[in-house]
Amino acid sequence: MGNPNCGKTSTFNALTGARQHVGNWPGKTVEKKEGSFKHKNYDIEVVDLPGTYSLTAYSLEELIARNYVVDEKPDVVVDIIDSTNLERNLYLAVQLIETGANVILAFNMADLTKNYGLKINVKQISDYLHVPIIEITARDGTGIEELKGAIINLYEKGEEKEDKAKIITYGKEIEEHLEKFTEIINNNIKLPEKYNSRWIALKLIENDKEVIKLIENLDTNHVVLKEAERIRKHLTDIFGEDIDTVIADARYGFIHGIIVENVEKKEKKESFVDQAKKTLSKPVYGATLAAGTIIGLMFLFAGGGIMESLSEFLETAGAPEWLMLILVDTIVVGIGAITIYIPFVVLIFLIYALLESSRMIKGADTLSDHLDRITTNRALGIPIFLLLMFITFNLTFEIGAPLSDVTDWFIVDVIGGAVEGILTSANAPDWLLSLALDGIVAGVGSVLVFVPFIFMIFLIIAILEDTGYLARAAFVMDKVMHKIGLHGKSFIPMLLGFGCNVPAIMATRVLENERDRILTILINPFMSCGARLPVYILFTAAFFTGTTMVFGFSLNTETIVIYSLYLLGISVAIIMGLIFKNTLFKGLSSPFVMELPPYRMPTLTGVAIHTWERGWVFIKKAGTVIFAIVVLIWFLAALPAGVEYGSEDSYIGGIGKTISFVFTPIGAGDWQSSVSLFFGFLAKEVVVGSMGVLYGINGETGLTEALQSTFTPLSAYAFLVFVLLYAPCMVAVATIKREIGWKWAIFAVFYTTAVAYIVALIVYQGGLLIGLG
Ligand code: GDP
Ligand code: MG
Repeated sequence: MGNPNCGKTSTFNALTGARQHVGNWPGKTVEKKEGSFKHKNYDIEVVDLPGTYSLTAYSLEELIARNYVVDEKPDVVVDIIDSTNLERNLYLAVQLIETGANVILAFNMADLTKNYGLKINVKQISDYLHVPIIEITARDGTGIEELKGAIINLYEKGEEKEDKAKIITYGKEIEEHLEKFTEIINNNIKLPEKYNSRWIALKLIENDKEVIKLIENLDTNHVVLKEAERIRKHLTDIFGEDIDTVIADARYGFIHGIIVENVEKKEKKESFVDQAKKTLSKPVYGATLAAGTIIGLMFLFAGGGIMESLSEFLETAGAPEWLMLILVDTIVVGIGAITIYIPFVVLIFLIYALLESSRMIKGADTLSDHLDRITTNRALGIPIFLLLMFITFNLTFEIGAPLSDVTDWFIVDVIGGAVEGILTSANAPDWLLSLALDGIVAGVGSVLVFVPFIFMIFLIIAILEDTGYLARAAFVMDKVMHKIGLHGKSFIPMLLGFGCNVPAIMATRVLENERDRILTILINPFMSCGARLPVYILFTAAFFTGTTMVFGFSLNTETIVIYSLYLLGISVAIIMGLIFKNTLFKGLSSPFVMELPPYRMPTLTGVAIHTWERGWVFIKKAGTVIFAIVVLIWFLAALPAGVEYGSEDSYIGGIGKTISFVFTPIGAGDWQSSVSLFFGFLAKEVVVGSMGVLYGINGETGLTEALQSTFTPLSAYAFLVFVLLYAPCMVAVATIKREIGWKWAIFAVFYTTAVAYIVALIVYQGGLLIGLG
């Protein structure tokens, strides 16, 4: 067994050669690889366990690996250790040894240690941990014969008298309790032979659900579990911290001590400045950064001037409107919007380099480590995350808006015009003309207009994801979530929710604990997905244009409003998480070591594929689901025969008038917006699409005017809040049903809608009260 990517499978292959077969763990989707080899008259069966970082049994992989070691009790467990990453790998090793298993450590990647300048005192570490250690290079088979020999040796030696489970001592306070508790366990219940009682005691104090379940059956008079509860409380009081954290810290401390004593790092660590120099001496990076900084400074101090003179120049040259939109408003504004941040980044790096050279920051190794020092810093991590989110929306806006104008013109004037021309010249009946123009072009068109925005935001998310930043954001937020007692791992699926809640809900499968999953799924719909963006943009363009001064910076008001909605979504998700955690799902919390892959330069194709895949879903949806709903709405708006199209007397007017009283208190009392919200449950883009149909006006500009005569800025904001928070779309509901069942899916629909209504009500009525109406 071992950490992911430490070389388990390579070792397995080196040991077994061709004699292996692959299946699944019973009832699980995790692969199980088995094989065998012969050595010294022994026939040895080998199992390749799933990769894990710890033995806490919080994920499926951990559970499988742990159950195998603890319950199946293999004769020998070979723990593969990535020698270039000893500290993290030994964390698992120590826990493994604590289970009382017969462990051999295989220090793999011996070929790499030299390159890394590492000198490891293997003998000494082996003495500390009381287990044999063999150095191997799984990739070329070096050391594999020795490993085989060691396995046989250990087996022949049999179980030792010495209690290996005791290799770590957890300090006087915990040790005392641990010892007494171990005795209590031994005196009160008959543990099956295979379990080490100290390990059981430790796990009970750590509040390990699996072990508690195991003991529940044996502990008929509840002495042991009650005692565990008491000790846990007592220790938590003493340490003023979660006892799992104290124990985990002790393990890390123990390992760190071993490493400091027994691993020599010959090479001097490279400073950030050296690393940066090395990277920037590559012409691509160096030149890009220099150019970016210069252009950024230019835009920072003379942005308006540049834009003006450029537009003037193009105007006198007689460039057409659309070319100006793309060239000036999109490309040049885009370059400005991006480069303007570069001088700030350079400044941060300079400060960092200064701090490092003054020895206030220590220990980073690679450039990636250095970057992590900044992005996952306790104080800076969250501000950086929030800032990057803000920049994301700002760029989406600055670059998306003009492109969207071009799209609008294309759909309304070019396509709409062509359709009208063709239908009129073919003498099509009026109703068909209305269906095509008022229904399809207006409805689907008003959604498609937002394609540029959607692509922009997905492009930026893809870049953040491919560089590895998104993993950092999850890491940073994970810490926050964990502090307030929520499951930390939940934040990864939640971040995915910014794209679309459906894959995000499916991504909760990484959470093995059923209750963690349900909780994460329930709060996920509050994360604002791409489909809600069109609604925000439509409304902000109508009500929140211009700029606002924030801390002396003049910022785009639309961006601020949209940003506030995303933050509101995150906040409501966290608050609801807390509420659930204290009501429906009491007492879950689990620390985990999160893997941070190194930062990479994203590749053009990688980013393009990611952006396209997600953006295409949006376009496809507009052409299928939205198309169908829009046609349905058109029929409802045109029937019964004889009514004026889209009037109050149509069927849809009837629906709208019937339900509009519900929405009046939140400021969306006209029947058109009531209907949009009603149908918006099918898919949130439909809110925009149906407004396009119902206000009977083509394109974004006309719709904007219709909205301005219906809403006030306050009611518009309340409307957006409602759209953000209310029932997840139909597909998301179906996904929830598939993942955790009907009961929860229905619950999700009702509770999110209730939350949405309450928050929108507070916003609207509160706003009226303080005179914002
Ligand atoms: P697993 O995830 O633990 O099963 O790890 P794998 O056996 O799949 O190995 C992960 C990566 O490490 C692969 O790219 C291997 O080629 C590489 N690897 C495994 N063992 C060694 C080794 O001894 N030396 C080097 N340099 N690379 C290794
Ligand atoms: Mg593997």
